[in-house]
Amino acid sequence: MPLHRPQLSRPACACLCPGLTPEAPGRIVGAGLHIMALAANVLAGLRELLGPENVLTAVEDLIPYSFDGTAALREMPGGVVFPRTTEQVAAALKLANATRTPIVTRGSGTGLSGGSLPCPDCVVLCLVKMDQVLELDRGNLTLLVEAGATTQAVFDAANAAGLFYPPDPGSMKISTIGGNVAENSGGLRGLKYGVTRNYVMGLRVVLPSGATLWTGNKCVKDVAGYSLKDLFIGSEGTLGVITEVLLRLVPKPQASQTLVATFAQMDQAAQTVSDIIAAQIIPCTLEFLDRTTIRCVEDYAKIGLPLDCEALLLMETDGHPAVVAEEAAQMERIARQNQCRQVLVAKDETEAANLAAARRSAFSALARVSPTTILEDATVPRSELAAMIRFIQATAKKYQLRIGTFGHMGDGNLHPTFLTDERNQPEMQRVEEASKEIFAEAVRLGGTITGEHGIGVAKKSFLRRLTDDGSLRVMRELRRVLDPNGILNPGKMLD
Ligand SMILES: Cc1cc2nc3c(=O)[nH]c(=O)nc-3n(C[C@H](O)[C@H](O)[C@H](O)COP(=O)(O)OP(=O)(O)OC[C@H]3O[C@@H](n4cnc5c(N)ncnc54)[C@H](O)[C@@H]3O)c2cc1C
Repeated sequence: MPLHRPQLSRPACACLCPGLTPEAPGRIVGAGLHIMALAANVLAGLRELLGPENVLTAVEDLIPYSFDGTAALREMPGGVVFPRTTEQVAAALKLANATRTPIVTRGSGTGLSGGSLPCPDCVVLCLVKMDQVLELDRGNLTLLVEAGATTQAVFDAANAAGLFYPPDPGSMKISTIGGNVAENSGGLRGLKYGVTRNYVMGLRVVLPSGATLWTGNKCVKDVAGYSLKDLFIGSEGTLGVITEVLLRLVPKPQASQTLVATFAQMDQAAQTVSDIIAAQIIPCTLEFLDRTTIRCVEDYAKIGLPLDCEALLLMETDGHPAVVAEEAAQMERIARQNQCRQVLVAKDETEAANLAAARRSAFSALARVSPTTILEDATVPRSELAAMIRFIQATAKKYQLRIGTFGHMGDGNLHPTFLTDERNQPEMQRVEEASKEIFAEAVRLGGTITGEHGIGVAKKSFLRRLTDDGSLRVMRELRRVLDPNGILNPGKMLD
């Protein structure tokens, strides 16, 4: 069995919660997928609490919820429910806790570590119908939203008020803010503006028991008690269900400038990144594409990228117009000092969006090339970027695999992306071996196995091996205290 891609499905007979009566026997749905009917009392309870129109159990309705953005992982849930209020979430969790029914919380299912992958007999609690913008407070520069609002809707609500919500995961048009908080998502602006955690001021959370808590407030400073909100940020749906998020907004930058530089050698791009940081410029975006990715993006988006270069850097600075002009000129100078082939400077917003599209479309462009796209998330200190990229390329050669690498170079966060086919078992085995080596190398270089996509099921075994015993013990105890019956996202992140 592969080490970090778990078995895709369990036998149908293993799926029932003790003491419950099945409404119907388990059925085989398709290639290896099984579905178990939820216990009749659970189903009836959920229909009564949420309304029958918010409870799905038909096989054809469940299939879209049997996977997330992670390749090669599929599992049918027992049902999917769509609460509309925090009270409904609380009531559903209370019922689930009493009947020991596993709950997998889901936003838009764009996660890349299998976090919202169902377990065989679970109820998927999908938050997308809780998508209201509740309050924009101009006096305190905060935005209160329901957890199912998309990241784009958050950005748009801030923008409409002349304000700015910076975190921008590549999936922002569809990912939910609840999913972003649960994964502590990063994005293209992480280098200057930080990640989701840096913008969360408060959370409403429903615990597995059904009890609800509010943690945080609109104060810039608050050291009263443990920072509970920080516990739930990045908890990947294992400690509670986030139903409302209070976000910090910042003033909109007055100006921005976007540049793209191409390089014949990888080291020249890596040195450019180091020199930009050493010059004390913190661009809002400093992104990288390797040769394979450049070719796929050009084939897909027809942006006019040169195909004979090894590396492409997308650089963007924002802020006061004078500072932006100065920083853009400096970045161009640094790229040229490092023998870049070409620098393109966007003349206006449309051109800037066009250049940024090269990076934003990287995953979609790679995904067209092969039946299975496995996007990894190795992260290293910035000083080790060139070494890490060289290692990824050597590993691709060693295992005869196709890997396109792109990512947030300013953050040291790389996305080596395997272009493969899950039906080809020998190749999938080589992918396993190669990714193990890549993660081990990232850690050897002082890095981590995930910079932003989380552990989920995909990286559970690595977390176990890389985290010290004391920390693992505290994580397990915390989870046991908050979820003594183990109903929330069982089998994810920790055993
Ligand atoms: C094309 C593409 C580009 C991406 N780019 C980026 C990127 O640049 N940066 C980045 O960090 N990630 C990126 N991702 C990964 C993914 O989009 C993020 O992890 C995102 O935050 C997931 O949001 P979601 O609503 O889809 O959550 P889901 O995938 O539905 O869930 C993710 C996890 O959060 C939990 N969860 C969801 N909602 C809640 C809630 N309300 N309460 C408690 N737990 C909850 C789930 O149980 C699960 O464990 C990308 C994914 C794709 C497909």
